[in-house]
Amino acid sequence: MNNSAPLMVVGAGISGVTAALEAAEAGREVILVERDPSIGGRVLRSHNYFPKLCPPSCGMELNTRRVERNPRVRVLTGTTVAAATRDGEGWNVTLKTAPAYVNDRCTVCNECAKACPATVPDPFNLGLAEVPAIRLPHLDAWPQRYTLDRDACGSGCTACVDACEFGAIDLDAKETEETVAVSAVVVATGWRPYPLEKLDDLGGGVLPDVISNVMMERLVAPAGPTGGEIKRPSDGAVPKRVAFVQCAGSRDVNHLPYCSAICCLASMKQAMYVKERLPETAVTIYYIDRRTPGRNEEMLNRVDELDGVELVKGKVGKVERGAGGALKLRVEDVESGRLLEAETDLVVLATGMVSNLDTGDTPFAVHTDDDGFGLDDNAAKLFVAGVARRPEDVAASVRDATGAAAKACVAATGRTQ
Ligand SMILES: Cc1cc2nc3c(=O)[nH]c(=O)nc-3n(C[C@H](O)[C@H](O)[C@H](O)COP(=O)(O)OP(=O)(O)OC[C@H]3O[C@@H](n4cnc5c(N)ncnc54)[C@H](O)[C@@H]3O)c2cc1C
Repeated sequence: MNNSAPLMVVGAGISGVTAALEAAEAGREVILVERDPSIGGRVLRSHNYFPKLCPPSCGMELNTRRVERNPRVRVLTGTTVAAATRDGEGWNVTLKTAPAYVNDRCTVCNECAKACPATVPDPFNLGLAEVPAIRLPHLDAWPQRYTLDRDACGSGCTACVDACEFGAIDLDAKETEETVAVSAVVVATGWRPYPLEKLDDLGGGVLPDVISNVMMERLVAPAGPTGGEIKRPSDGAVPKRVAFVQCAGSRDVNHLPYCSAICCLASMKQAMYVKERLPETAVTIYYIDRRTPGRNEEMLNRVDELDGVELVKGKVGKVERGAGGALKLRVEDVESGRLLEAETDLVVLATGMVSNLDTGDTPFAVHTDDDGFGLDDNAAKLFVAGVARRPEDVAASVRDATGAAAKACVAATGRTQ
């Protein structure tokens, strides 16, 4: 293994993209590995992101331009790490890349998607909408290349191939495999939402009008399942009352013992979405603590000033079906210790972030803390970035990823830290 072998970054969310760019702009060759068909990770599934409340696609576009212009970054989408072994000073990593059913000749004309008779639940919209089996992963996808869920194709169907006048579709494409030698690795595999179904006491997975915070981001997004209209999943009615339940499964030994750091801010942001779209709708945020560190304190001030938004210091213990399609909440008023009851039309559970490091598809033997988040391993030249390290917001993830890139660059030279 020589010192000039590339770095590998696993996961191309905002943290992985940042780490890859920082290392490449400092002069290192980088291989950026992403399992999804496009880069950007979870941030792109947010409608807007705090603190500026602008669409995340703007920030991501700046980064994708930097990636496009930098010949030192090799991006492999649809790719996972199949095996990784230490080799002298670095790593030998075997990568598996999903079949490229749609190749570089694709012009994004969408004729294949129009012709496709099969549909699948849309992963980008968290399964809340159906999309053609062949499609652009989402409007801001980079690379702008169509993806095909081959398992959804009907037997012998060639509708997409027949519709493509550029010969860009090969239904017989095969998975490919390659082994690369790398000098150091940054793991930036991010997070997944805590499953709603595990919160059945709060109506999660049981009552259709109990949704999660990540679902709310898609409900308000113009490219989301309702075209950006906030509607109750059960009957499509516009909610007159919306309740946000904080720490839903977080800071709770029965679920996630830790605080995910962003849920208070995410719910405040979403309370603003509701008041922008539905000014007459009453919003209540039930919280234990209001955690808005640093300059994010400004978000709390903005929400506090909004008419029709109430912040109640109370722990919601139960959400049940109420009368006439309403939902009934049982709340422990933290300050008085009394039990309260409240009615609402839509409940948004502020579910936390779970590390992706336990999925078994990152075979680097990353050491983790008690909550499953990753720890650096200097001796193994293995560094962790972003939410893979700890739950945090985009700004902190970017800072963290910059640090991880610096540490990986130093480790790659063989110097001790
Ligand atoms: C409801 C909600 C709202 C939020 N709103 C905001 C906000 O407004 N502002 C803000 O600053 N933050 C917000 N956040 C936090 C923000 O989403 C995170 O800070 C951000 O996603 C961290 O990025 P990341 O790159 O570390 O992880 P991710 O976004 O999860 O990216 C990880 C990437 O790694 C890929 N990956 C995973 N495993 C593998 C593997 N084995 N091999 C290859 N690739 C893999 C994934 O496909 C993904 O692309 C919000 C969080 C939630 C839950």
